[in-house]
Amino acid sequence: MIPVLIVLNAGSSSLKFQLFDIEGDVEPRLVWKGLYEGLGGAAHFIVRHAGGADLDEMSWTSGAEFGHEEALMHLISWLRQHQERRTLAAIGHRVVHGGQAFSAPVLVDDHVVQALEKLVPLAPLHQPHNLEPIRIVRRRLPGVPQVACFDTAFHQTQSDIASLFALPREMRERGVRRYGFHGLSYDYVSSVLKDYDPRLAEGRVIVAHLGNGASLCALKGGVSITTTMGFSALDGLPMGTRCGAVDAGVIFYMLREMKLTPEEAERVLYTKSGLLGVSGLSNDMRVLRSKATTDVDARRAIDLFVYRITREIGSLMAALGGVDGLVFTAGIGENDTATRAEVVGCLAWAGLALDEAANRTGGPRISSGSGPTAWVIPTNEELVIARQTRTVLNATRAKLAS
Ligand code: ADP
Repeated sequence: MIPVLIVLNAGSSSLKFQLFDIEGDVEPRLVWKGLYEGLGGAAHFIVRHAGGADLDEMSWTSGAEFGHEEALMHLISWLRQHQERRTLAAIGHRVVHGGQAFSAPVLVDDHVVQALEKLVPLAPLHQPHNLEPIRIVRRRLPGVPQVACFDTAFHQTQSDIASLFALPREMRERGVRRYGFHGLSYDYVSSVLKDYDPRLAEGRVIVAHLGNGASLCALKGGVSITTTMGFSALDGLPMGTRCGAVDAGVIFYMLREMKLTPEEAERVLYTKSGLLGVSGLSNDMRVLRSKATTDVDARRAIDLFVYRITREIGSLMAALGGVDGLVFTAGIGENDTATRAEVVGCLAWAGLALDEAANRTGGPRISSGSGPTAWVIPTNEELVIARQTRTVLNATRAKLAS
């Protein structure tokens, strides 16, 4: 039997999954990937081969009460029917927040679940959804090992100073500090940089993860030295619907003068701001690009996005003491030629020069000249979760055997 891993990434109404073969001492190999969406309403399931060809699809009516638990149990039985000669070795989960306690992936047990539940206030809009499938598997499939892989863990290499807010000391002791997110994506980019340019992998690199969520990470010799996201996934760059860095005074104004409740203010900052808030149109870069020549607010939203990215790149360059390379990744970074061109264009002062033809075809190298280089590297967070899950599984087995 071939051992396989399921990698899960759960959102409020969605469950993304990938199945990896982990036979032998080689990189985990993607077999199938898919998604349940519309959970809790009219749910839809689709699964594809690793190469992208459709394999199966199913829909449920909105009255069917088909939520995360039903989706997970459906997935397990669908896999049992389709994966002859394969056996489920473990499930790896994307968990957004590992707090101060978890600086590496961890095998889930009762203590881990309790500790992760305590972190819900640090990531109220993500952590509960990440934990739900962990609880469901513990209840329904108690024999299956589970590994939690954290978006925060990659940034544990930040210095004390880089992770500090200038707040009273007791707040730091309560865990109010800069954590940073998108760590699974940065881990992947860091792990493959040597395949693109071995010298760059040893050098000073800024990675721009530009998706619905967006952040930058400064890598030195492949490890994170600082990042634009802080205590929550709100900080730093403007995002699809999140505001990025705002003056904390704005939040007091919202509460005191606009009389918003904390929950209402939170909703504005997480779901009504960013590209959507500034454009009044959409959080989707494709829509904004298609309207940018005729709609002044769509153009403003894009201009602000690019302006904030380039300003923050300047800040990260200062933290790194210079830069050798810039990497674009995630939905916008991998696909939006214009955003890459605009960002690199604003960095001519730092010696970056765009190779327009290479940018149009997606690189991977999109710079010319002898200055810092610019790259497009597609991210693969699920592969990092599969790698980490296998490592934890093997370490656990070795410990039990000794
Ligand atoms: P998430 O953070 O949800 O994983 P993604 O990494 O999928 O997000 O990124 C979503 C963003 O990528 C959206 O703004 C979307 O418009 C943008 N995007 C995806 N494909 C393209 C494309 N071909 N051109 C421009 N933008 C794109």
